[in-house]
Amino acid sequence: MNPVLMSSLSWVAYQERLQDDGLVLLLPCGALEQHGPHLPLGTDALLSAAIAQAVATKVGGLVAPTLSYGYKSQPKSGGGQHFPGTTSLDGQSLSQMTRDVIREFARHGVKNLVVVDGHYENQWFLTEGIDLALRELGTSYPLRIMRLEYWDFCTEETLNHVFPNGFPGFALEHAAVIETSLMLHFYPELVSLEQIPDDRPADFPPYDMYPTRTEWVPPSGVLSSAKGASAEKGQGMAEQLTDSIAAAIVREFSHSEAE
Ligand SMILES: [Zn+2]
Repeated sequence: MNPVLMSSLSWVAYQERLQDDGLVLLLPCGALEQHGPHLPLGTDALLSAAIAQAVATKVGGLVAPTLSYGYKSQPKSGGGQHFPGTTSLDGQSLSQMTRDVIREFARHGVKNLVVVDGHYENQWFLTEGIDLALRELGTSYPLRIMRLEYWDFCTEETLNHVFPNGFPGFALEHAAVIETSLMLHFYPELVSLEQIPDDRPADFPPYDMYPTRTEWVPPSGVLSSAKGASAEKGQGMAEQLTDSIAAAIVREFSHSEAE
């Protein structure tokens, strides 16, 4: 039994953990989405879960099962919907699933929730689900929610170390150095290093077209090269992200409502 995973606890053990008003529950959110020929379809869900577990271990929190399907992949951030394997939800479905599980956590007595997003396209639909849940619960229920995209916690020092030749920006970081390095650290057996493509970085115009122009997207699905990835970079990044997210959680949740 992993004491950090909600799904491995009995309801009795879970209820006991909730006796502590300061308990923090983390909800990882990902996607089932192509991540090039070298990373698995579940990369976003796997990474948000791994980071949530590392953070929960540090702050004494619990991790709920991952929301493993995400909002539709966009060409300029995830390669788009045309790849086999990419399996996405309508925005409303994701928002309502988010709203529903938050409502259930509140019924259990959860007061501190952290939504750990690992898929860029999810952001506003998770926000909508949070907003719908809070509106429904009303202001009398003392639930505080933090939503985060884990990569936003990368410090400049980390980015300089991971990208000695300059950071291409998070938008093109799909299946590239950050995700590949983190996967090499957390799930090395799921990475096929020899399959890393060496396409040129994608060059998108400053607008979108519908139906999407699949020819804008490199055929590999990788938006900038992952060649610079390493397990060592992944470990350094994972440690820094875990520390920084844990510090934010302590900052936001450690004082009581009355203060
Ligand atoms: Zn990803």
